[in-house]
Amino acid sequence: MICDNITVGENGHLYFAGQDTVELAKQYGTPLYLLDEDKIRDNCRVYTKAFKKHFGPGARPLYASKANSFKHIYEIMREENMGIDVVSSGEIYTALQAGYSLENAYFHSNNKTDEDIRYAIANHIGYFVADNVEEVKAVDAEAARVGIRQKILLRLTPGIDPHTYEAVATGKVDSKFGSAIETGQAEEITAFTLQQKHIELVGFHCHVGSQVFAEDIFERAAVIMLEFVADMKKKYGYMAQQLDLGGGYGVRYVDSDPYLDVDKKVSEVAAAIKETCQRLNIDLPDIHMEPGRSIVANAGMTLYTAGTLKKIPGYKNYVSIDGGMPDNPRFALYKSNYTCLLANKMEEAKDFECSVVGRCCESGDIIQEHVMLPHSVCRNDIVAVCTTGAYNYSMASNYNRLPRPPIVMLCGGKSYVAVRRESLADLCLNDL
Ligand SMILES: *Cc1c(COP(=O)(O)O)cnc(C)c1O
Repeated sequence: MICDNITVGENGHLYFAGQDTVELAKQYGTPLYLLDEDKIRDNCRVYTKAFKKHFGPGARPLYASKANSFKHIYEIMREENMGIDVVSSGEIYTALQAGYSLENAYFHSNNKTDEDIRYAIANHIGYFVADNVEEVKAVDAEAARVGIRQKILLRLTPGIDPHTYEAVATGKVDSKFGSAIETGQAEEITAFTLQQKHIELVGFHCHVGSQVFAEDIFERAAVIMLEFVADMKKKYGYMAQQLDLGGGYGVRYVDSDPYLDVDKKVSEVAAAIKETCQRLNIDLPDIHMEPGRSIVANAGMTLYTAGTLKKIPGYKNYVSIDGGMPDNPRFALYKSNYTCLLANKMEEAKDFECSVVGRCCESGDIIQEHVMLPHSVCRNDIVAVCTTGAYNYSMASNYNRLPRPPIVMLCGGKSYVAVRRESLADLCLNDL
């Protein structure tokens, strides 16, 4: 199995986090998001331990909460001592509702509105990760109005293509995010920021991409960033306290994806960082990383009920499910890989090739193509899609006026609802 929280019971049913998914589907209905809370906490601890061990006490992993944002997850992050990334007033509001105090919150986004800036500062956000000069000016103005000095990091692009999907590669020079080191714009924005009275520049940030497995991407990014840090020290007498290397570690969606050992990766990055600091004769800054996907993805599974089965002889077979692109748009967006299983028939041979498709009026509404399921697949079977904990609920929509599924947490053999199922009435809540 692609993750150790996925097993098969003696009854031939798929089990997730030790619980019978067929029973969970019966109890809570479908479509249904499951989240293995124990796995989320384990994933957090792998990072927090590795950071303490390899980077020292000032280092901190930040959960990139855009991967999956709802109240309870911020409570988990608080309990697990994780900082957080937020990218909107909506995520800030949700974190506050969960009682997450924002001193270790980092506010990202390439385009924060004036309203966002006001809202974040009014709620004592720890850090802005400023994308551009416009934003630095706007934050300085608001900080002046309120009478504070706002801490910020500057988002830079180290000019690295992580050889991953173009759509999720963000560290290249021509990215819409950040200021490029190569073009001199990173230096310009640093010099500008250092002159602002109501801003305290605490360091630099980069994020090279997502679903990254490549050997040395983070090491290369860290070296380029540290060289920039040393350069700024030399030219402006400014020494960065924090260096944030972003998120992006890959997870296993299918059997052919490699397994990534986070502790080992962090130790390799740490070794490269320490060596580079020595070579450049600078102090080791506090290192941050921002895992999103690798905290929640393998803690998630989505359950659906199979409906229409369509066989087009000589062409293709379709298994339709009672959800689709509104609850998981990732195949439609990126042709993402997923592992699909027939939860109530795990012991039967997988000898029937089909596309698992959603129920929307859109031919791109596909969960996965070339799926192998048992040929007995029929209406009312339970289809499970694995590794859906990241960028599914957080990207969900009400397309075709479909209510969004609930999130049911699995924890120590028990289950509970963390986000309730939207009702038909919810769909008209804002309609006047
Ligand atoms: C999306 C994002 C992350 C998280 O990336 P993952 O691939 O989910 O780990 C971290 N930092 C920034 C700035 C991001 O935009």
